This record gives sequence, structure tokens and C-alpha cells, in this order.
Amino acid sequence: MHTQSVAQLIAGLRERQFSSVEVTRTYLDRIAALDSQYNSFISVDETAAMAAAAQADARIAAGNAAALTGIPIAHKDIFCTDGLRTSCGSRMLDNFVPPYDGTVIQHFKAAGAVLLGKTNMDEFAMGSSNESSFYGPVRNPWDTRLVPGGSSGGSAAAVAALLAPAATGTDTGGSIRQPAAFCGITGLKPTYGRVSRLGMVAFASSLDQAGPMAHSAQDCALLLNAMAGHDPLDSTSSTTSTEDYCQNLGNSLAGLRIGLPREYFGEGLDSATGACIDSALKELEAQGATLVPVSLPHSALTIPTYYIIAPAEASTNLSRFDGVRYGYRCDKPVDLHDLYTRTRQEGFGDEVKRRILVGTYALSAGYYDAYYKKAQQIRRLIKQDFMDCFAQVDVIAGPTTPGPAFALGAKSNDPIAMYLEDVYTLAVNLAGLPGMSVPAGFVDGKPVGLQLIGRHFDEARLLNVAHRLQQATDWHLRRPESATLATGASSNASAKGSATGEQA
Ligand code: GLN
Repeated sequence: MHTQSVAQLIAGLRERQFSSVEVTRTYLDRIAALDSQYNSFISVDETAAMAAAAQADARIAAGNAAALTGIPIAHKDIFCTDGLRTSCGSRMLDNFVPPYDGTVIQHFKAAGAVLLGKTNMDEFAMGSSNESSFYGPVRNPWDTRLVPGGSSGGSAAAVAALLAPAATGTDTGGSIRQPAAFCGITGLKPTYGRVSRLGMVAFASSLDQAGPMAHSAQDCALLLNAMAGHDPLDSTSSTTSTEDYCQNLGNSLAGLRIGLPREYFGEGLDSATGACIDSALKELEAQGATLVPVSLPHSALTIPTYYIIAPAEASTNLSRFDGVRYGYRCDKPVDLHDLYTRTRQEGFGDEVKRRILVGTYALSAGYYDAYYKKAQQIRRLIKQDFMDCFAQVDVIAGPTTPGPAFALGAKSNDPIAMYLEDVYTLAVNLAGLPGMSVPAGFVDGKPVGLQLIGRHFDEARLLNVAHRLQQATDWHLRRPESATLATGASSNASAKGSATGEQA
């Protein structure tokens, strides 16, 4: 059962081949038996999950199933869940139990999905390796000595290890696409504003966007159908109408123009990774697409621009964590100043503090024009580069990351090396565009992702291209060896994971 896609599970539930109680039990058992080697979940509420599964079965029996009724979905621990801890990977929110569901969670509940658990993540979604979590690093199911990518690393690892059929993630600068690439799954960051941010802990409000992570483009489309839509309670949510994201999946690629930005294939791209991307592109060409060389001339400025804007927004968003209203509070503060400073000193980890310092500096009166305002101007140029390309092509393609997953600990003491991981993903967020990562082969047994970037609100086309690629290739169907072990055989694998994973 755990090897089935979301689409197959939906069909199997409808045809009464199995019940949601059976499916949900299977995944809960796998999490209990296997997750010690990956650390992909932070919270699992078995009782609530089983109750939701029983309700789903009743709904199916009564003949009024919704789109995802009975399907267990794991959610990144950034989404507020009513009555279930939402930590955002931080000590600051370790004790935070929201009194409401975020809009994404509400949408999944309305679609009948079962909330399987909350997945591990980099603290406040800041990171590219899932090593900054208060709950410890997540390990890559393809090789537990490697990082799964971040910040949605728990969601990516859980799906890759078959501990959940699909999951949600969020992407501020690559956090859906990069872990999807590193874990060999499919992930979609929708257009900014396509999915509500209400009840999603804010990192950088002008960049944050939630999206689906699953094995296939088809499963991502099924999840996006539930997630997308206008939310009157989120002023940045778009009123552009949604569509059925499954309806174009089978369309032919004949006549499709795919732009290949020169800047995404040059120095810095691992050559074996580049070869995988080339062969995936050849497959798209064989299906009738035309490959067109294009240029994104301001690409070199995306990392510095992002690492001014994202920390600036983070520094203001995270000012709410003051020990007064909710979250962590230091022990016995002597006065108000001590309460603020010690709460924040003890509640936040190093990477979060680094971002708050950089962001506060960039926004300070004397430096605002030189840093923040300048970064906003360059952001505009970066967006214009994409608009110019989309006058010539329908989709832009390239690698998701410069290379495959790296070893735990390899970059954790070098923030700049870590930031370079995002070189191909950040610009998509700065421009507000939709982007996907699609499995495109392996380098020494490590998965590699093809990135597809679309025009604003052109998610259906991206999903179509990815689906057609997946009809012709089997990269998205490969599974890590550790995930195919029977649940009873987990103890060896788990010892291996802890022996190799803690050197960070
Ligand atoms: N790795 C990037 C960062 O650390 C992006 C994170 C994200 O998309 N949430 O900011």
C-alpha cells in the first residue's frame, strides 16, 4: 500500500480495495518503525490521525467523498494546526499549540485528507540542509550520511522514504525544490499569492509560498487542486482564478519553447549533474519541445539580493517572538529587557540569529538606502530578465541545484557555501514565479533534479511538462533501498543512521 501514488490510493479507496484506516495505519507503523533513521517527523498524533481516517471511511461509505478523502498527508511543521504543536523547527515554538488551522490545513481537511503528522525543517525555514532544526538534522533516505536539503527536508525525506504518500512544504528561496531534488521527488513552488500564507509561520513575507511535494507531477497536481485559491484573510493572496491542475497533464509538448539560461549551465554546475539535466532536456525535445538559448543577465546578483531582502523581512517578522505572548519564555526574567534578550538568546539558534542581525543592519536608518532599497531595485531587474525571456519561450529549464546532496556537516560551518546552494532557485522567488523540481537522474546513486520555471500562474503548464517527462522516464519511480525494507527490519538501518549522521 505504501508504494502507491496518491492517484492510486484515491482510486483504491473509492473502489474499497482498502480503507483509509488501513492506509493510515500502514503509514503510522512505517513512521514508528523507520523514522528513527531519518528524523523526518517532529510530531505525530496517532489518535487524531486514526480518528480522521475512520471519519474519512464513513464519508466514503456514505458516498460523499471529496477529492482527497482518506489520503494521509504530512505537513511541514510551519503550518498552524489546531491543537497540535507547530514548532517551525525552533525551540522558540517548541511549546506552541495553535488554537486554529492555517488555511492550507483547512483546505486539506475540507478535501478529506488525513493529517498524518508534522515534518522536520530548518529552524524558521532558514537553511538548505535541514541541519538548523532544534529537533536535530534530517537524514537523506538515499544515503543517511547525506543531508536531505532544506528547509522542507523532513517533508522530502518522509515522501522519499515512503513514510507519507505526499507532503506540503514551503519555499522562500528554494525550500521545496532543493530538498525535492536531493531526495528524488517532485516538488512545486506555486506563483507567489497562489496559495494562502495565513497560518503559515512567516519567514520572508514577500517570498514565502507553500506547495506540494510528492513522487509525481500528477500527485502534485492533485494536492495543488486542494491548496490553491484566494483567501480573503491573506491580503497578498491572489484573486486570479484557479483551474483543475490535472486537466492539462496529458497535453502534447509539440511546439513548446523551453528556454535554457546560459547562466544556469556555466561555471559552478557539477558536470555529472549537468549531463543528467541534458538528457532530461533531450527527452523533452524528443517529445516535440524546442530548446532555445536565453539569458538571465542579472543572475549573479540573486544571492546578494536575496540575502538582504529575506533577512530584512525575517528580522521584522521574528520580532514578535519576545517571550510575552506565546512561545518560549526564559526562566525568571529580572526585568523586561532581560525577558526580551534572554528569551531570544535562548530560543533562537545560530542561523536565525545571523539572519536577524543581518536584516536589522540592512534596515537600519543609515543603511536602508544602500542595502534594502538597492536590493529591491535589483529585484526588479531580476524579474524583468524573466519577463524578457518569457516573451520568447513558454518555460525556462535548468538544474535545481549545482550538484547532488552533500554530506551532513560539510557546509554547516560555512554559511556562504550553504547560501551558494540556492543559486538557481532564489531568483524564482524574487520574481514571484512558479517553479518545479522534477527527478532527472542520479549521480553516484544520488538523485538530481531538473528545474522548470513558468510564467506567473502557469502551474498547469509546468505540471504538464513534468508529467510528460515522467511518462517517458522512470527516475521518479526509483526508491531508496532503505525505504523498501520491511518495517520489521528497521533496527539495523537505524543503527547505521545514527552512527553516520551525527558528525555535524
Ligand atoms: N535556503 C534558503 C534560505 O536559507 C531558502 C530557504 C527557504 O526557501 N525557506 O533562506
